[in-house]
Amino acid sequence: MLEIRGLSTGYGNSDVIHDIDLSVGKGEILALIGANGAGKSTLVGAISGIIAVRTGEILLDGEPVRRLSPRARVQKGIAHVPEGRQVFAGLSVAENLRLGAYVVLPGMSSGELSSRIAEVCERFPILLGRMDEPAGNLSGGQQQMLAIARGLMARPRVLLLDEPSLGLSPILVAEIFRLVAALKQQGLAIVLSEQNARQSLAIADHGAVVENGRIVVSGSGAELLGRSDIAERYLGVGQGVGVADASRHAALVAKLRAIFPDADKGRTV
Ligand code: ATP
Repeated sequence: MLEIRGLSTGYGNSDVIHDIDLSVGKGEILALIGANGAGKSTLVGAISGIIAVRTGEILLDGEPVRRLSPRARVQKGIAHVPEGRQVFAGLSVAENLRLGAYVVLPGMSSGELSSRIAEVCERFPILLGRMDEPAGNLSGGQQQMLAIARGLMARPRVLLLDEPSLGLSPILVAEIFRLVAALKQQGLAIVLSEQNARQSLAIADHGAVVENGRIVVSGSGAELLGRSDIAERYLGVGQGVGVADASRHAALVAKLRAIFPDADKGRTV
């Protein structure tokens, strides 16, 4: 359903994503795994159109979409649920959901809107009782559900999920992964960008490891889960540092550098 060919892009003068080839079919999950800064969000943003592609092609059911605006891509069936949820905290849950549909059809009738809200809330019943509350009142997990529900309001065929488990407790992470697996059963093609490699590969049909903007390994989810080199680097097994540990370390180092800007001159933190 979604095919990426030779995709490269970056920011300003720097190239971040290099010559990426990927595909994901109807009812499949493709997990993109890799450390902080590997380029996963850039790749996902290039697919949805919020980041301009430099070279390469993006095909949706064989039709090129690279030159379409982000909005036109949503209308064609590609929805992006961004990293960090990015719900509108001051707007109500219902208003956030309406915005997801507004992108597709600004003049959608209130009957159609209500039926779409009812449809997505079958998957996220927790949102039903909170419709009039500001989204900012929801917990992190509920906000993530709202962000996914907002994406589903467009009735996409391809769902791009960027780090949906970020910052959630283990119970909520398990809940989010269960939901993603259920969406696959519904027939969506899903690109799941995640640092939580173990759980994402466990539900994925295909996995791709992103390092420095390139796909360095790809295979079925089960294959990648079973590989000792992947386990050591990305699943926190053996001597290697897990991605989550590496990220926490990087965040701590950044915080220390902000407080003590000269502390690590000439040394390794
Ligand atoms: P994370 O999990 O932290 O989001 P990631 O794998 O999604 O990591 P990206 O966010 O795509 O990685 O970042 C890839 C590279 O692009 C990094 O070196 C990052 O610093 C750089 N980058 C990301 N966004 C920008 C931007 N807006 N301007 C310049 N460089 C950026």
